[in-house]
Amino acid sequence: MLLIRILLTAAALPLLAAAAHAQAPYQFFYGNLHAHTGYSDGNQDSVATGSSTPLQSYQFAAASLHFDFLGISEHNHAQAGMRLADYARGRAQATQATTPSFVALHGTEWGIISGGGHMLVYGVNQLFGWEPGNYDVLVPRNDYQALMRQINRRPGAFALFAHPQTSDYGGLPSSAPFSPTADSALVGTPFRSGPANSANVTYSNPSTSTYESIYRAMLAKGYHVGISLDHDNHNTTFGRTTDARLVVLAPALTEAALLTALRARRFYASDDWNARLNFACNNEPIGSILRDPAAAAITVAYADPDNERATSITLMRGVPGSGIPAVPVATAAAGATALSYTDPATAGTAYYYVLVTQADGDRIVGSPIWYNRAAGLATVPAAPTLQLDVFPNPADPAQPVTLSYFLPAATPLTADVLDALGRSVLTLSASQFQPAGPHTLTVPTNTLPPGLYTIRVLAAGTLTHRKLVIGQ
Ligand SMILES: [Zn+2]
Ligand SMILES: [Zn+2]
Repeated sequence: MLLIRILLTAAALPLLAAAAHAQAPYQFFYGNLHAHTGYSDGNQDSVATGSSTPLQSYQFAAASLHFDFLGISEHNHAQAGMRLADYARGRAQATQATTPSFVALHGTEWGIISGGGHMLVYGVNQLFGWEPGNYDVLVPRNDYQALMRQINRRPGAFALFAHPQTSDYGGLPSSAPFSPTADSALVGTPFRSGPANSANVTYSNPSTSTYESIYRAMLAKGYHVGISLDHDNHNTTFGRTTDARLVVLAPALTEAALLTALRARRFYASDDWNARLNFACNNEPIGSILRDPAAAAITVAYADPDNERATSITLMRGVPGSGIPAVPVATAAAGATALSYTDPATAGTAYYYVLVTQADGDRIVGSPIWYNRAAGLATVPAAPTLQLDVFPNPADPAQPVTLSYFLPAATPLTADVLDALGRSVLTLSASQFQPAGPHTLTVPTNTLPPGLYTIRVLAAGTLTHRKLVIGQ
């Protein structure tokens, strides 16, 4: 992590000379991840517009103002128009529609509203579904934990809530206990969504819905989620119903850079189509999960190329897992473009995020930075959980087994396989340093005789075990 930061900083030295802090490597990209075309239940105006495919829809979006990327997130099931063959066509058209100045992303909107809610899924090029003949990977209907386990098995994959209600996803935002599986799979929940059936193409039909209370509740429960903004287009309006945007901070406008940035929660929600929010803690960007003995030193810089002033910039602070939503801890005066704050807390974990209101009432809501102020590396608390998953299990000797896990912070990791007598028979990782985030390791099961094994993982001072059965 440190090495990557040094390299980025070194590469950005000419920019840094003029910039306030180390976020110069990132550019701001404006777009939306929630849209439908004729490959599910969108392009409902196709008779009038002649547009009915993802390719036509991406091309429309590429010509929209202040719109660098569009994610098409077709419904995953036939009841809403999805067919497996179209899913693959849509994926190919996203590649075709991507240019140096526009990125076409391809995801799905998974689930049924009455069966527990909608989730956007990205970073996966397989259709997850439950209808016979209409999926690449079987994920049972209404089983959100199964959906998120499939996401966690695929490094780089992630999910976001779509127009969430408090009872959705088995009550994740409300009554359900904290789920490490969900925390690993989720990167965001929207500030606004829609209007889904608008036909407006003059950027003048903004959504007034707000799901901010769900964001606040998820953070208070301890989830590591950022805040997105969805258009949920069902007509040929991509990027033009509203000037509100999901804003992603990435080093380049490519599919890989955007997906990596989204996975890292390096994004925010903006009612304004080109406002720039730089938010850092100890020089690490929005979305970061940090641990450091130094005090948390927050910097915020706001800019708008159209010179729209901010009437307020507010820094919010909360404690993950406390159940208590964040409260304001610092506010900048009207017209200010910057805010800084050093947290007096000498220990413990907090999260921070920024709220900006512009003179025209537009709001910008930032994703958090989580900060664990640890007195020293020796006393750093163990990773709360590894979310270790072993798949498939029982395993077939002809098929390798994948271990997937999520590291909340960078750590050396040792993993090995023990036989039925507790002897280590295979080393998978020998104290290798691994960055925070999702990881996988492969167990070459063909080197092990059939039987009962235990997978043992040591990370951040904590041992985790899983049984593994290798069949005949
Ligand atoms: Zn939906
Ligand atoms: Zn939708």
